[in-house]
Amino acid sequence: MNVVELIKNSPSTAFSFEVLPPLKGNSIDKVFHTIDILREFEPKYINITSHRSELVYKETDSGLFRQVSEKSRPGSVAVAAAIQYKYHIPAVPHLICSGFTKRETEYALIDLNFLGITDLLLLRGDKAKHEARFTPTTDGHSHAIDLEEQVNRFNEGFFLDGSHMEVSQKFSYGVAGYPEKHEEAPNLETDLRHLKAKVDAGASYIVTQMFFDNDKYFDFVARCRAAGINVPIIPGLKPITNINQLSILPKVFHVDLPETLVEELEKCTTDAMVKEVGVEWCATQARELIAHGVPSIHFYSLNATESVRCVAATVY
Ligand code: FAD
Repeated sequence: MNVVELIKNSPSTAFSFEVLPPLKGNSIDKVFHTIDILREFEPKYINITSHRSELVYKETDSGLFRQVSEKSRPGSVAVAAAIQYKYHIPAVPHLICSGFTKRETEYALIDLNFLGITDLLLLRGDKAKHEARFTPTTDGHSHAIDLEEQVNRFNEGFFLDGSHMEVSQKFSYGVAGYPEKHEEAPNLETDLRHLKAKVDAGASYIVTQMFFDNDKYFDFVARCRAAGINVPIIPGLKPITNINQLSILPKVFHVDLPETLVEELEKCTTDAMVKEVGVEWCATQARELIAHGVPSIHFYSLNATESVRCVAATVY
């Protein structure tokens, strides 16, 4: 069953979360530890993020520095396979445009096909840290929709070199949506037009960027439906775990934090109090979303495994 079938067949709101591949050289144990903590809530699937390469400076033997392009978190495909085979929970690796050539993407698709992993989340990925704006990789894709087209062609059995062969299993995939607008979109309508194009191209569901005010999600769903987007729209939630996120989350993810939440967080004098407020806020959001009949909730669990566990324990 693919993600949409899994959530449609779920008798109640489904639960999912994401893990990051370990930093280069680290073991996979931390990923397994996260899953061991959260598996009691019966995740229908687990997402595995993907990370672009960044330019870093390396000291050479001569003492000079040279610029090299490096991935600090490689291994999304391998981590997806390890999860799916160890836990028998469907793995949903993310594929991104940034930092990947079309050929590298094709190799990843071939590997995933061998591994029996057939669900993907297709994304553009972010700009490199040194860039002012997103620049596509040479011979890479510019937008998530271009990645969708490559996957669609692959599903039809067409490879980049022009050869054709029947592929045994077809990929199905979701895409990202932004209740508060993607940071680069000139307005909500343009962003929605591009989202509709992604769905029309073949995305069978949407996962949203995190939001802290459910009305933003409800408005977004209403606008999507009015625009003729009829696929499931999975809300993404993140429990706040430290006070720095008050400024980091708006800056990095371009989301607003409601004033009531900010006031509650500003009253906290310890990290434990911040975590408690974060869990309570997230659980309240989740309860309302479940009461509203959302098909599934996706949790952004980076550095928040324990908080996600607390939220899930109160709402699932
Ligand atoms: P796109 O759909 O390409 O949209 C990017 C911008 O371009 C938007 O402003 C859109 O309106 C516009 N646009 C879209 N199509 C077109 C077009 N054809 N012509 C002109 N403009 C267009 N990042 C990672 O690096 N790794 C991850 O694992 C990862 N996981 C994520 C998971 C979720 C659920 C979400 C919500 C985001 C994730 N991201 C991840 C971040 C994501 O890559 C960034 O938000 C990125 O800036 C945009 O990705 P996208 O797929 O929405 O891009």
